[in-house]
Amino acid sequence: MGEKQLNIYPAIILLLVTALTAVCWLYAVDKAAEVKVRQQIPQQAQSHSEEIYHWKMVTTWPKNFPGLGTAPERFAEVLRIMSRGRMDITVYGGGELVPAMGVFDAVSLGTAEMGHGAAYYWKGKIPSAPFFTTVPFGMTAQEMNSWLHYGGGEELWREIYAPFNLLPMACGNTGVQMAGWFNKEINSVTDLKGLKMRIPGVGGEIFKRVGGTAVTLPGSEIYTSLQTGVLDATEWVSPYNDMALGLHEVAQYYYYPGWHEPGPTLELIINLDAFASLPEDLQKMIEVAARYANQDMLDEYTARNNQALVQLQALSTVDVRRLPDDVIRALHQASDQYLEEVIARDETANKVYQSWKAFADGARHYHEISEQAYINARDL
Ligand code: CA
Repeated sequence: MGEKQLNIYPAIILLLVTALTAVCWLYAVDKAAEVKVRQQIPQQAQSHSEEIYHWKMVTTWPKNFPGLGTAPERFAEVLRIMSRGRMDITVYGGGELVPAMGVFDAVSLGTAEMGHGAAYYWKGKIPSAPFFTTVPFGMTAQEMNSWLHYGGGEELWREIYAPFNLLPMACGNTGVQMAGWFNKEINSVTDLKGLKMRIPGVGGEIFKRVGGTAVTLPGSEIYTSLQTGVLDATEWVSPYNDMALGLHEVAQYYYYPGWHEPGPTLELIINLDAFASLPEDLQKMIEVAARYANQDMLDEYTARNNQALVQLQALSTVDVRRLPDDVIRALHQASDQYLEEVIARDETANKVYQSWKAFADGARHYHEISEQAYINARDL
């Protein structure tokens, strides 16, 4: 027994030496492969980091217009910093490179790689487009963001813009706007009859249906038109922007709420070919910067509107009032009727409406016992 045990030792030692050699060899092979991979990674990253994308971004706003125009500038700046200068975007105001209402076509054709505006401007081309911005008596900013990002809205939006070679993303929201500035008291629906109001888009259509005369004018012409009596009323945005335009100097009654624009989402559009040419990290940075700009604008508007409203209410010449219930009801009724007509005419609009309506109803149901219930409770 003892002799046999002694004879086993050389075999064990040989086995251990063999195993050790094998482990060392495997380690060496593994290390060599790792070094090879390490050599490859920096080369790849280096090739991406060296490429600088000089892009143009056309917008529907005057250059650096407070809020609406500063949002795309902020987006571009954040993207520049995040990408360490690899995304170099030059932002153009409306009319600088292409006309404000030419933004969609310019990005679609690749004249510019990016654009910033609002989907409802393109309702002539795409009848369902207003649902991606706002429709009268539609969703609030919080609800729109939820529908777009977690309720299937963004998927539909991308599907509808894809044939135009465009990728859309939410990129800003003003929150609930104001009904507007009036030079006459509005006590009932009959006071709207023949009233000349600057109110573009879907809101204007509804306004006509309740007896008003809807006028479309650029922001720059509103002040003089109200002052000279060409207009009886105008909508613009909310206290922060309206005060900057000086509307409180040319109209007395400031009515709320903005039934026609309850939470308009602004859009970033990107040429699909241009987007596909980017490395994955830059694509992701664009999405993150858009998401940032989307929330940032709402935050800024809430803060600046709060301040501006206090300033407006301190003026003896300004009367801030709520639209009477019967006026709101009539506008709501006309809006529902209008939307029914839009979806009856266009199959895609109907498809978007079904998703939008189901989500809006759900959000309303939930907000009755959450946001709305809390806001009501806070005032008791
Ligand atoms: Ca508006």
